[in-house]
Formats: sequence, C-alpha cells, structure tokens
Amino acid sequence: MGPKTAACVLLFSLDRPFFPVDTHVHRVAKRLGLVPARADAVATQASFQESVADDEMYPLHMNLIRHGREVCTAERPRCSECVLRDLCPRIGVTSSR
Ligand code: SF4
Repeated sequence: MGPKTAACVLLFSLDRPFFPVDTHVHRVAKRLGLVPARADAVATQASFQESVADDEMYPLHMNLIRHGREVCTAERPRCSECVLRDLCPRIGVTSSR
C-alpha cells in the first residue's frame, strides 16, 4: 500500500488526521506554490501532513480535489474563472505541470 492509499484509509475510513495527495491535489499545490515545483507526491504529502491543522485536512483535501477537477484542470486550467487567480503565481499556465 502506497502513502496516498494509506492516508486515504486513515482519513476516510478511520477518521484520522492524514492528508492524501492525489494527482489533483499535487498539481494544484505546485501551481499555487504551496510546495516546490519539483516536489514529488510523497514530499507534497509530507508537507501538508506537517503544516495543515488536523481539523482542516479533510476539508482542504476535498476542496483541492474539487478545484483541480473543476477549475485548475491538468490541460486547460480555467484561470479567468478561478477564485485564487490573484494569489496564483502561475496564472495562465496551460501545461500539465
Ligand atoms: S489561477 Fe489558474 S493555475 Fe492558478 S490555481 Fe487558478 S486555475 Fe490553477
């Protein structure tokens, strides 16, 4: 079992404060500069695990996934509609990074 799956089981099944990082969370975190652009998913998960308050892990995880699926999509992020555009250092970037 990898770290993402383990964190999912702990968060969703056992209600423990763990922060899974899937492809959407990872992409949005990098674009927003929350983690270094070269951070891998394991490093991103460790960073969120250390810095996010326990009671914010579930809602932040869910909101980052939703944002990544609906707005900050992999191929064509909808930056003009993004509520985070004034904070985002990568506004307008259309690559999948
Ligand atoms: S401004 Fe664009 S790149 Fe930045 S978080 Fe929003 S959708 Fe993603």
